[in-house]
Amino acid sequence: MIKKITFKKGRLSKILLTRLNNYYKDAGIDPEFVTMKWQKWNKNPFMVTFIARNEDNHVGWIIYNPVNSTIEDIVVKYPSKDKDVEKQLTDALVAAETLVSAEIHKDDKTKYQWMLEYGFRPTRSFITDGFPLVKMDLSISVLLKKIHGTTPTKPYRKTETVVIEKIPEKRGYVDIKAGVMRLIDALGGINKFIKPDSTVLIKPNIVSDHGLKDGVYKGGIITDIRVIRALTELLLPVAKKIIIGEGSSINRSETTKMFKHYGYDRLVELSPSKISLVDLNTDKQVDKHVPGGKRMHTRKIPLSIEKADVIISVPVLKIHFAAVASLSIKHLQGAVPPLEKYMTHFFGLWQNLVNIHHLIKPQLIVIDGLTGQEDFGPVSGTPKRMNILIGGTNPVATDTVAMKVMGLDPASSPPVFLAYMQGLGPIEKEKIKIIGATIDEVASPFKQPDINLDCGRDIRIHADSACSGCAGYLHFVLNKLRRPDPKDESRMLIDRPFDRKVNIYLGPFVQHPINPDETNIFMGICQQHNAETGTHLPGCPPHAEVIVNGVFSLFPDVERPQYADKSEEARLGEMLEEILRTL
Ligand code: SF4
Repeated sequence: MIKKITFKKGRLSKILLTRLNNYYKDAGIDPEFVTMKWQKWNKNPFMVTFIARNEDNHVGWIIYNPVNSTIEDIVVKYPSKDKDVEKQLTDALVAAETLVSAEIHKDDKTKYQWMLEYGFRPTRSFITDGFPLVKMDLSISVLLKKIHGTTPTKPYRKTETVVIEKIPEKRGYVDIKAGVMRLIDALGGINKFIKPDSTVLIKPNIVSDHGLKDGVYKGGIITDIRVIRALTELLLPVAKKIIIGEGSSINRSETTKMFKHYGYDRLVELSPSKISLVDLNTDKQVDKHVPGGKRMHTRKIPLSIEKADVIISVPVLKIHFAAVASLSIKHLQGAVPPLEKYMTHFFGLWQNLVNIHHLIKPQLIVIDGLTGQEDFGPVSGTPKRMNILIGGTNPVATDTVAMKVMGLDPASSPPVFLAYMQGLGPIEKEKIKIIGATIDEVASPFKQPDINLDCGRDIRIHADSACSGCAGYLHFVLNKLRRPDPKDESRMLIDRPFDRKVNIYLGPFVQHPINPDETNIFMGICQQHNAETGTHLPGCPPHAEVIVNGVFSLFPDVERPQYADKSEEARLGEMLEEILRTL
């Protein structure tokens, strides 16, 4: 019985080579495969050979590539049928590295099977040096359950400061500006952040036009422009150049219209030679390598962000129906171009939000909590008046304090928890120094959305172990079916009868058996292993548009809800295909 696996870095030894040769011989795989791998590993200076021990006994090896977080091979000293030792070795690696993937030979059925049972899913097939390989990605839902309640193996050493600033109830501009000033002073003063001749990029949240419809302003959807104005006025005497940059999500590429819609052009008038507005969706881009290469190895970053000396991130205090909270970590999804937003979903939203923070590092975060948003945020929720600003320099610590103010556990938000586990900042109380108001003074629980995955007459949902990602996005799409059926208005569209029952599967492990005589829809990376037995909706979670297309394909007579401009959708689809071909 394996009790506690520990790893020691070792070398590619003769005994390991013998064990690998025996393993692949038993699997009926060409011995040249081992020769090819062995040579590659020997030539790669980054490759790590972990020798796994159970107390004093050597039990196996993992050959691991930390550059792309990939298990190159995993082999045990004494093979057994149940594959428990392999799974224990993987548990120990996951505890240290969090999200990992693996590359296995296509004909290595034994490894494929136990990896599937563990929670890995086949996401890509490819050929390397003439050998067919399969990329196995670990389900984030499985990962989150495995690391729930644990702490990072390398503890975060620093203590971070977060400021909670109360704004008087009447919330005049003078009050807000004074609050922003006090917040920055508490964090060390404007001159700590801005050196003379600096270019500063302020990133507000201007997600869509939902914050101002028919002349009626609804708080909690976009950053209150008065906070951005206050920051701009404080920066003007110090900074050389101020860029206000955003890449709106819902209306893609329409950021310039959003700037106008919300009056940002009037901010430029404060000093037209110094202040400019930049649409990050259409800005020039630079390729950046992602350290650790988890899920994506490179990301495209807008040039204006790359060249800015200082980035100030100004999200809104709000609930997100899938990410639990949309704060500073989620906020940077709006800082990447449209295809990157799309690919973030395709390859894994939670991890890729963490990845962005390796490449874009705001020096200052000011969470606009004048009016937050509860219930079905980030766009369709309910405004919640809070009269606070929360500021910090570390995204994990700042989001942790914000979530506690909202009455939420920071570990419940997948991107916040992953960022913590991967060393981006602390969630522990003793590592966060709070200045200004206390959490208790300002805390007010935010209502979380009721996720409704109730089935229709012939549409059944199987979501045994799905994370909030697929569950939240499916709820969003199913809601569009909870309206009268144009064919028969006495029933809901979701209750339309079908000749063949419809099953929608989400989450890594679903008990309900697959019946090939029924219509089956499989959601996300967690269900990718079943892709060939029905319709697969790719992504993690699949993009809302992908789910809309998949679910509405059941109703060919019903116009599907439009997510974006048609030509824009087609262009994004083509670009994604192009990228997948080159992977
Ligand atoms: S595929 Fe869906 S259920 Fe699985 S981890 Fe991704 S978002 Fe969660």
